[in-house]
Amino acid sequence: MSDCLFCKICEGKIPATITYRDDDVVAFQDIGPKAPFHQLVIPTRHIASLTQAKPEDAALLGKLMLVASKLAGEAGHGNSGFRVVMNAGPDAGQTVFHVHLHVLAGRSFGWPPG
Ligand code: AMP
Ligand code: ZN
Repeated sequence: MSDCLFCKICEGKIPATITYRDDDVVAFQDIGPKAPFHQLVIPTRHIASLTQAKPEDAALLGKLMLVASKLAGEAGHGNSGFRVVMNAGPDAGQTVFHVHLHVLAGRSFGWPPG
């Protein structure tokens, strides 16, 4: 999508610190980190929100999880733990409407989330 911030990051039109890339998935550092480790894992194909995802997106959405775990593990957070969060829709606080999985680590997190 031409006016989507995260599509532009995938296309290299907006700079980001890319940490992982393959044909389906891109990961990069969150610009406003909420933990010592905070990356976003996104599909290269534009899906506006989890609320818009279709059954045929299942494998792609699952891949986001596996890439998240790989990145957190490689950064040394596999044993201590990490949190994955996907905000879907306004009540959840979604502000960028291209599906993204937050991967957070490096501190303890409260539950329930705010
Ligand atoms: P959400 O509120 O779940 O939609 O999360 C959007 C996330 O995108 C926030 O954590 C922002 O800090 C992050 N973000 C916004 N713009 C950029 C950018 N240009 N590069 C990296 N992360 C960004
Ligand atoms: Zn997009």
